[in-house]
Amino acid sequence: MDRLPAARRFVRRFVAGPALEDALGVAARLNADGVDAAITHLGENVVTIADAARAADAYLEVLDETARRRLGAVPSLKLTHLGLDLGDDACRANLERVAARGLAARTLVWIDMESSAYTDRTLDLYGRLHPTYSNLACVVQSYLRRTEQDVEGLIEIGATVRLCKGAYREPPQLAFPDKRDVDLSYARSLDRLLSADALARGVYPAFATHDERLIGRAREQARAGGVAADRYEVQMLYGIRHDLHAPLRSAGLRLRVLVPYGEDWYGYFMRRLAERPANLAFFFRQVFRG
Ligand SMILES: Cc1cc2nc3c(=O)[nH]c(=O)nc-3n(C[C@H](O)[C@H](O)[C@H](O)COP(=O)(O)OP(=O)(O)OC[C@H]3O[C@@H](n4cnc5c(N)ncnc54)[C@H](O)[C@@H]3O)c2cc1C
Repeated sequence: MDRLPAARRFVRRFVAGPALEDALGVAARLNADGVDAAITHLGENVVTIADAARAADAYLEVLDETARRRLGAVPSLKLTHLGLDLGDDACRANLERVAARGLAARTLVWIDMESSAYTDRTLDLYGRLHPTYSNLACVVQSYLRRTEQDVEGLIEIGATVRLCKGAYREPPQLAFPDKRDVDLSYARSLDRLLSADALARGVYPAFATHDERLIGRAREQARAGGVAADRYEVQMLYGIRHDLHAPLRSAGLRLRVLVPYGEDWYGYFMRRLAERPANLAFFFRQVFRG
């Protein structure tokens, strides 16, 4: 796929480019339109301590460069990129390096949620580091049956939480197989995260979805509860539903777009293809035409 120009072009629809400079350029353009960015250096499941340390170094560079250029952009990282498969201690040390630099720069650091094999360890590490690094933010996935319970635990500690639907293949014992149940679960967690009780505890929710009905629900709940526009945000992925940016911004919503960059795009790209069969058809048409 790397060698086919048509495939590379299609990957670029979802990935800013191979270098940090590409992501910073996209972030600057988003900022100019009043949209914040979250920058992801692509990579996951590293198998050496050196690779995990290099991933953390890349995020330090993200923090330094966004501060130097005064960009509205924060890192969003994966723990298996920072070495979670190599042990909690190695990963924690790398995460603390990034979290400390972020804290000094008053910048949030989002910890993405990966497959259910990592949910406990990710939330556990988040819970242990949150008292020291209040700038750490975590993610929950509405497709998991456990998530409503996890949301209650996160409300208790006043967490900064991204709510997404979930992007990994999971067994039915753990995740709702029916999309309608995933959406209903999303709506219930959204209501809880925007409740007066959650906000009073310091919760800052981010609704990561391109689903217009759910974005509408967040706006409606916020309006009904008198929640100020700066107490929550909507998040989207680079290359998806760009047409919604301007209307959401004009309506006064805080919007952040996650911008991935790097060479290791395969896993991320495949998840974007799998989310939408139409992407796959479009991809093959482009490749064969190319
Ligand atoms: C900022 C952000 C961070 C995320 N972080 C994580 C994470 O940490 N862990 C995790 O598991 N998942 C994460 N995700 C992915 C998420 O779980 C979903 O897989 C993804 O957002 C698609 O679901 P949806 O909420 O947009 O709803 P859907 O119901 O899947 O889609 C709603 C509409 O959005 C559009 N759309 C959605 N996906 C695509 C696509 N791939 N291509 C083109 N159009 C599309 C379509 O118009 C579709 O009708 C994140 C998503 C966002 C936006």
